[in-house]
Amino acid sequence: MVAASNEFDVVVLGAGAGGMAAAVVAATEGLKVCLLEKTEHVGGTTAWSGGMVWAPLSSPAKKNAGFKDTKGDVARYLEGVVPGSRGEPRMAAFLNTIPNALDYFERHTLVKFRPLSEYPDYYQELDGCSVSGRVLEPEPFNSTNLGAHLRDLRLPLPEFALFSDMMVAREDLSHFQNVFRSIRSFGKVGALLSRYAYQKIRWGRGVDLVLGNALAGRLYAAVLEAGITVRMGEQVSNLQRGGLGRVDGVELLGGETISARQGVVLATGGFTGNLRLREKYLAQGMGNYSATAPGALGDGLHLAVSAGGTFSQVRDGNAFLAPVSRYTRPDGSLAVFPHTVSDRAKPGLIAVDNRGERFVNEAISYHEFGRALLSHQNTNGPEKAFAWLIADSRFVWEYGLGALKPKNLNKKYLVAIGYLLEGSNLSDLTQKLELPPGSLEDTVSCYNGSAAQGLDPQFGRGGNAYERFLGDSQNKPNPCVAPIQRAPYFAIRVEVGDLAAAGGVNTDASSRVMDESGNFIPGLYACGADAKSIMEGNYPGPGITLGPALAFGFSAAMNIASSTKNAC
Ligand SMILES: Cc1cc2nc3c(=O)[nH]c(=O)nc-3n(C[C@H](O)[C@H](O)[C@H](O)COP(=O)(O)OP(=O)(O)OC[C@H]3O[C@@H](n4cnc5c(N)ncnc54)[C@H](O)[C@@H]3O)c2cc1C
Repeated sequence: MVAASNEFDVVVLGAGAGGMAAAVVAATEGLKVCLLEKTEHVGGTTAWSGGMVWAPLSSPAKKNAGFKDTKGDVARYLEGVVPGSRGEPRMAAFLNTIPNALDYFERHTLVKFRPLSEYPDYYQELDGCSVSGRVLEPEPFNSTNLGAHLRDLRLPLPEFALFSDMMVAREDLSHFQNVFRSIRSFGKVGALLSRYAYQKIRWGRGVDLVLGNALAGRLYAAVLEAGITVRMGEQVSNLQRGGLGRVDGVELLGGETISARQGVVLATGGFTGNLRLREKYLAQGMGNYSATAPGALGDGLHLAVSAGGTFSQVRDGNAFLAPVSRYTRPDGSLAVFPHTVSDRAKPGLIAVDNRGERFVNEAISYHEFGRALLSHQNTNGPEKAFAWLIADSRFVWEYGLGALKPKNLNKKYLVAIGYLLEGSNLSDLTQKLELPPGSLEDTVSCYNGSAAQGLDPQFGRGGNAYERFLGDSQNKPNPCVAPIQRAPYFAIRVEVGDLAAAGGVNTDASSRVMDESGNFIPGLYACGADAKSIMEGNYPGPGITLGPALAFGFSAAMNIASSTKNAC
């Protein structure tokens, strides 16, 4: 017998982008919703993410002046990156749904987006690619709107913030970069720091949120506003099934049951934090560390399979890759730093293998860098693929390197714990990295040979708009190329990690979980990183996991709402 207080129309597992989107839409459509979150915080990996959303032809994307997108261009581009995607039902559903979903959020909730004036797709050589007009970011969010619930929201990754929780908006980054060069920037940085100091005293954390933390904060504000019952620290042990095998509730560890008359949505963030599943489904050369938040252990996958659902491996790899470096923070926690956009494309960095040789254009997308490292590993020996990122003292001062912040803010600690290796000259660094004698000097000398002219004849850094966008526009003539010449020199070890799962539960275009025969399981839905990615393990551009998470969370809720109305 279920207590009346535990009777709901919909139960959603997981308070990230997918789960909160589904919960908010279901509640807005008049359903009684319970949102269960396993950890003590809402937000999941979404709260740590860049918050970019790939949403071609959506209303905010159309606001981007000077760029006119077309369905044909989008389809041709996707077909180039994800062969077979043209007309594929779930891909078509995503492209049709994402504009509607974002309009819906804009109309009914605090979840609002704005276009980026520029953010190129990752494969600039492909037909239909764009340099702008497809990528959105969440509007910044003042999290004091959450009132007493502010403490529920997962903090941003400390490595992506100043003083661990001061988030810096994209438009303010240049002021930090120029703080000692321009009086205006100095003044602006001073004002931002004073504002943060006040917030720290008043609320115990920075409250001006941007990027993924703003998205998670906005979604959570919408959850609260919609009157959704939120329970944190809850672990589901079983799905319950009623007549005709319909999933109609969940059982928590400890035996308490919660009914879900119309359906259960799985949105637990995928499996890549689970070492056993990593070993089973990810490429052999991948490292053991995921950049995802702590909850991503594959619970949704286990629950779906227990109800007859199936896990689907994707054609081109079961995870979205990124080079990651890791270290232990002063508080003892493990940091897995994804080298996505902050360092690899900046001028004056190269990556070398265990022979001290370059093997790739380091400025390509994080996913392609991961692939290149994995395929290089096959010829290069070590069981787990790894490489060294190499830079000089000018570079690390200007841009930082991995978890090292610009202006050497935390250098002493990172050198002391061995995360950042420092060599007084290249020969010294070569020894510290245990590379063949002379190899690093040869590689750097070869790279430097053309670097002053902005050329990289070996790998072509800065060869397209995406790479140049992530370089340094002040660095002429090539935003991605500068000599490596000012001692001391630095290195960080990177291995292949991931940002999210790509393989996942088989679902249809309405996010319904499918069984082995291709029939949907009544009452069971999955979205976000729990569902198999429509991109088949490919990474066309920024935001290709959050876009589908929002779209398929929306579809799940709309499908439940319309089934409910039809049944009445
Ligand atoms: C550093 C970084 C940057 C990224 N940047 C971007 C970006 O800019 N754009 C983009 O598209 N993608 C980005 N990604 C990937 C993106 O963040 C994820 O794909 C996305 O957040 C997944 O959303 P989700 O809702 O599926 O899962 P999550 O946001 O992880 O939420 C899942 C939630 O479920 C909870 N949970 C787990 N198990 C259970 C259970 N049994 N019961 C209840 N709750 C459970 C988890 O604790 C978590 O809170 C980035 C990833 C990283 C690591």
